[in-house]
Amino acid sequence: MAKKKIEYKFDYDSKFLNEHNVKKLAYELSHDADNSEKILDCLFTAEATDEQIAEATGIKLNVVRRILYKFFDAGMANYTRKKDPETQWFTYYWRFDSRKAAQLLEKEYNQHNKEIKDSLDYEENNMFFVCPNGCRYPFDEAAEYQFVCPRCNEKLEYKDNTDIINDLKKLESSYTINE
Ligand SMILES: [Zn+2]
Repeated sequence: MAKKKIEYKFDYDSKFLNEHNVKKLAYELSHDADNSEKILDCLFTAEATDEQIAEATGIKLNVVRRILYKFFDAGMANYTRKKDPETQWFTYYWRFDSRKAAQLLEKEYNQHNKEIKDSLDYEENNMFFVCPNGCRYPFDEAAEYQFVCPRCNEKLEYKDNTDIINDLKKLESSYTINE
């Protein structure tokens, strides 16, 4: 039987919420793409307990719990507690938290863009000097070393960084924004 495609529907409106971003975020949190995706599929199907998720996915219960708590810790998932009137035991029903996930994604996205922008500023506002072994220094530092690499004792030469700047300009966030 072919695996049914789960539809990722969000109960919160954000340009950062889409299946790609959510799966990517789940991977960043768990470092386990395969299992985190299966667990996400469950969360997007119905509220479920960790045991139900383990049963539905075939993933070991301790692994399901570990990943759910990583999601919970970051805010991407939360749970509701329900008390069994007979046993008085609590059961935890897990669900995806769209609003928190959107905030997390926005933060990650902005952070990444800021890092690129900072690197670009640095590259665009400096001249760089390299030694034959690839050590690299901005002008001020190279001048301080009198254009001799302090690590290799080799001559430092000016190196154009247009390629680096162009590569940085092409770098985009691995998260996408909905049109
Ligand atoms: Zn060197």
